[in-house]
Amino acid sequence: MNQFRITDYVENVVANRTDHDRLLQKIGEVSERRNISVTDLVSPRQAYYARKNPEIPHTMEAKERMMAGSGFHDIFGKLMSNKEYLEQYVEREAIAGRIDIYEDIPIELKTTTLLGTIENIQIEKPEYFEQLGMYCAIIEKNKGIVIVKITDSTPGSSQYFLKAYDVTFDNLDDILNDMKIRRNQLQDALDGDDPSSLPKCKWNCDTCQYNMICDYNDAPTEIEFTIAKLAGVTENPTLASEVLEKLRTYEKRKQSSSIRQNDLITPRKTYFKAISEIEPSSDNQNTEPLEWMTRWGKVRGIEQAIFRRTSKKPGESANIPFPEDYELTGYIHTWNGEPAIFNLSKLTNIVELKDMKRLFSWQIESLAIQCALLGRTRGKLFVSYDKLQGDLAKMRAYDIYFKDIEKIKLEYVSRINQLKRAIENNELSELPYCPTWMCTRCEYNGTCLKPSGALKPFKKG
Ligand code: SF4
Ligand code: SF4
Repeated sequence: MNQFRITDYVENVVANRTDHDRLLQKIGEVSERRNISVTDLVSPRQAYYARKNPEIPHTMEAKERMMAGSGFHDIFGKLMSNKEYLEQYVEREAIAGRIDIYEDIPIELKTTTLLGTIENIQIEKPEYFEQLGMYCAIIEKNKGIVIVKITDSTPGSSQYFLKAYDVTFDNLDDILNDMKIRRNQLQDALDGDDPSSLPKCKWNCDTCQYNMICDYNDAPTEIEFTIAKLAGVTENPTLASEVLEKLRTYEKRKQSSSIRQNDLITPRKTYFKAISEIEPSSDNQNTEPLEWMTRWGKVRGIEQAIFRRTSKKPGESANIPFPEDYELTGYIHTWNGEPAIFNLSKLTNIVELKDMKRLFSWQIESLAIQCALLGRTRGKLFVSYDKLQGDLAKMRAYDIYFKDIEKIKLEYVSRINQLKRAIENNELSELPYCPTWMCTRCEYNGTCLKPSGALKPFKKG
């Protein structure tokens, strides 16, 4: 069997500075703030500067944190509840809010990175309860739930924990009065262009983008989380376990779905997964779903920022399904009409152009499939180097040029058919191999790499 190698079809790789600059601009775009919100009332001084100085950008690190949090919320929320209960907009007394999940009672999802884990959440993270208390007052419910995903960043022991808390508030009227006072104070500051009466935030001013213009040392006081102090908080480990189980079940379901683009890059692995009942191995049953969700959430958050459509530059990005003829599930992101792929790289150095084909072979192959099926000779590869700091180093944009796209198309269309036949007939000899670097650590290599004719893999499940 002649092994197809995508690198033979890459004509050129070019770093595209125009796309790079536009990507950063797009990631930094903030939506216009209208009503005073619950979040504003948790840190009114920051809310003041955000409205008065929208031109001051967040640092790339802060933007990344926000995108990662937003992507995690998106994935987690969809696994936990139905669409109609997610991101529920609520409003009372001209104070607006968006509750993560609101079916019967409000559920707030939080993510945090710290050294170790949380011992006393009410003291360590009062802002969670401050916010939930305000939502409860807006919707007039005296119960809510806080679910927290904790990333323990202790060097050498990256671990994830999930905690859930039942929360009650018996003083909704007091909370609402407190909110009205804070709202008026913020509105007066905005109207009078004078933030001096606003309390200092709880956050670290050294890393705040407004620290050059904010006289935080002269603030009358630091914000007191008076609402959080009214909360009755009880940890609910049973709920945390149920949530983790739900996430695990989803992962198994996700891996057994129909043919996707990546399946064409690893046809043999796809075959084994499709016909076996073997579940993915796991070293740590308690944390595994949180680990993949954290990384996936970050990718999702950045992708959403890059590929969302904005009215400022209509037509720049779109998400289109694969052409119907090929029966592939999933979407193709496009950037000015050309297929585009985002990758969150763990590499510690920016890759030289001459090494791109080798080090990003998977992404380039994905792009080749999309270009071939859409009849394009050029695709875009956007890379964020997760471990690097600074706008210029972190985000890179590359143009990948392909030749002989008709041959590329023939290869992948034939793989779709080969894959279907192999699964149908429980016979893999016709299938091309996956990229060779994957074979050493592959759980199927004992069966897959036996001399041909000796294959007796698994029975259909
Ligand atoms: S510098 Fe400090 S007090 Fe001022 S807005 Fe930023 S976090 Fe708040
Ligand atoms: S051994 Fe290699 S070719 Fe076979 S399934 Fe695993 S990765 Fe694919």
